[in-house]
Amino acid sequence: MEAKPILWIVIPCYNEEQVLPLTAPMFLHKLQELTEKGRISPRSRILFVNDGSKDKTWQIISDLAKQDEHFIGISQSRNRGHQNAVLAGLMEAADRCDITISIDCDGQDDINAMDEMVEQYWQGSEVVYGVRSKRETDTWFKRTTAEGFYKLMNALGAEVVFNHADYRLVSSRVLRHFADYEEVNIFLRGMFPLVGFPSSVVYYERSERLAGQSHYPLRKMLALAFNGITSLSVKPINLIAGLGVFFSLLGLAAAVWAIVEAILGHTVAGWASIICIVCILGGIQLISLGVIGQYIGKTYLETKRRPRYIISERTWEGAQRRWIEEEAEDKG
Ligand code: UDP
Ligand code: MG
Repeated sequence: MEAKPILWIVIPCYNEEQVLPLTAPMFLHKLQELTEKGRISPRSRILFVNDGSKDKTWQIISDLAKQDEHFIGISQSRNRGHQNAVLAGLMEAADRCDITISIDCDGQDDINAMDEMVEQYWQGSEVVYGVRSKRETDTWFKRTTAEGFYKLMNALGAEVVFNHADYRLVSSRVLRHFADYEEVNIFLRGMFPLVGFPSSVVYYERSERLAGQSHYPLRKMLALAFNGITSLSVKPINLIAGLGVFFSLLGLAAAVWAIVEAILGHTVAGWASIICIVCILGGIQLISLGVIGQYIGKTYLETKRRPRYIISERTWEGAQRRWIEEEAEDKG
């Protein structure tokens, strides 16, 4: 009989004291269901990653870990953002399990899609992307901006799976290779396609947050989109170069036209047109410098090789610690 895979569900949590008590039992229930169906090992776990929350989130996670051995948690030393929190959890899980599923803790992603994800893994997929089939519960604004985000990303050379956020199954084999991508500017959903291996897609409906509020206002979403594009592609720099060539040619044509006009003796009132050209070019130059500056800034950050996450605490101390470590040795 084929060995059942150990699954670790990785859940980033930032100031989630309101939803965690509601969703934690749902995750546990799903884990038990999958275990009973014989699709995963009973040694599977739910790993919460506390991302430097300022409320009682870590307290709740610690209590959950005491109540049920399937709940475990790690805490980041400070808030580092969703992507780094997921990364910390995945790296923690990589050597201790066979498959991971990352999911938000607010109940927006349908946990029932996990059955299909695990099924796809049994069928041979090493990465299974959760894709939203509908966005009816999102506001018109959120939906339009989010879908625009995927289109823009792809147009600018960052290949991402359309409408896939960070709900995905990844095997530990893929994670071990993923660990070689040592960059500091991480954009997970654009990076897993780079690693390769057989992948597939599972559709699910995204619902509303069960409680609390979103930590992703438009400002953060734009920052994520920009980070995704500049981390994964240099197309914007090429576009800028193209723009430069285009406007140089336009400038040349304007110069020829001005000389011809002067020779023909037509007096040109000049001032307005010159100001316009100066403004347009000035604007384009500033934008271009800004984009190039972003890439230089990224290079600067990458050369520092700063740690991408720092784990300050783990729930598995004492007896539970020995037991988790023994399991890891069994596996190794
Ligand atoms: N999150 C995090 N660190 C942050 C912001 C968010 O770990 O700095 C977590 C949050 O707890 C949630 C997930 O990332 O589990 C997605 O955040 P949210 O639901 O606020 O975003 P939205 O679904 O509205 O895009
Ligand atoms: Mg959410």
